[in-house]
Amino acid sequence: MSTVARTQRLSRAGRGTAGALLEWYDNERRDLPWRYGPGVAADPYRVWLSEIMLQQTTVKAVIPYFEKFVALWPTVEGLALAEEEAVLQAWAGLGYYSRARNLHACAQAVVTEHGGVFPVQEQELRRLPGIGPYTAAAIAAIAFGQPAMPVDGNVERVVSRLFAVTDPMPKSKPLLRDHAAGLMPGARTGDFAQAMMDLGATVCTPKRPSCLMCPLQNQCDAHALGMEGQLPVRAVKPDRPVRRGIAFVTLAEDGTVLLRQRPDTGLLARMLEVPSTEWQDDAPDLARALRGAPVRASWWLVPGQVVHTFTHFRLEMQVYRAVVPVSPPLTFWADSARCRWVPKRELDKQALPSVMRKLIAHGMSS
Ligand code: SF4
Repeated sequence: MSTVARTQRLSRAGRGTAGALLEWYDNERRDLPWRYGPGVAADPYRVWLSEIMLQQTTVKAVIPYFEKFVALWPTVEGLALAEEEAVLQAWAGLGYYSRARNLHACAQAVVTEHGGVFPVQEQELRRLPGIGPYTAAAIAAIAFGQPAMPVDGNVERVVSRLFAVTDPMPKSKPLLRDHAAGLMPGARTGDFAQAMMDLGATVCTPKRPSCLMCPLQNQCDAHALGMEGQLPVRAVKPDRPVRRGIAFVTLAEDGTVLLRQRPDTGLLARMLEVPSTEWQDDAPDLARALRGAPVRASWWLVPGQVVHTFTHFRLEMQVYRAVVPVSPPLTFWADSARCRWVPKRELDKQALPSVMRKLIAHGMSS
């Protein structure tokens, strides 16, 4: 069947699809702290906050962070007035720290440029820091009932199966977006968007979708063709490059750890880090690396290594540890203006990215 013929046939089924999905959503939707009951207007601040947090992260991971943020800053004005350091600390562990900075900048822009009221239209929302096409559509639909269809990985998967799209991702994304928009009903757009998200997260899952429980079983081409397990088709991705380095976990006799603030731009900008060599393609030269350690000390290699996967590369780090007297002189390489000694018991409160927490935990082990 040609794509056009398939689209025509399925666009007839599309009207029934929305109704079946909304009926399912009314009974089966997930109870999430940023959601409101039927007929209750959503708070755009909470919708926006949850959508920013949910980018690249699971619902389960987001819930405690969301609750912490709304307890600390119940309104967009409150968040706008917060210190950036406090926002980063509250965000620590959720990853992708540029999102936390954009979150703060966005709150300030909403207050200064929009009088504390989020814009209603997708296009205006997209002009705010950290709000891309998906988030703008999600806020417009969920908070304001606009006819906007947010399409993330979950929705792409559901739609690729409903329409049995066999073109590989990411080339097929525009077609999937068109199909998703074609399914959107004239009313309850926010509920429809959330119903698609819920269906993808709980029923039409990546592996072994629960087709027998699915409200769209009768409208689904992939299920009819027995292809649900093969879709969506993905183009083969090249392996992530590997970068390597050596980290120095420096413990002082008074129970403090040497940390350093990262540069103002680039990956993990302005977050705290464990001083380390550059992260490079080749394994670093050990003698050279030790000459560049932040303190002259007797360094001991902690067995094993720390592996962390970033979006664009995989990091493999060896960790050296030293115990030093209180406030030892730092070497030129330490960049002492950016260094600070932090008590171990206060590490939890620091704006430390996950990779640095892993390095510290490994450095203190065995
Ligand atoms: Fe996904 Fe199966 Fe439902 Fe089709 S029938 S949308 S493959 S869960």
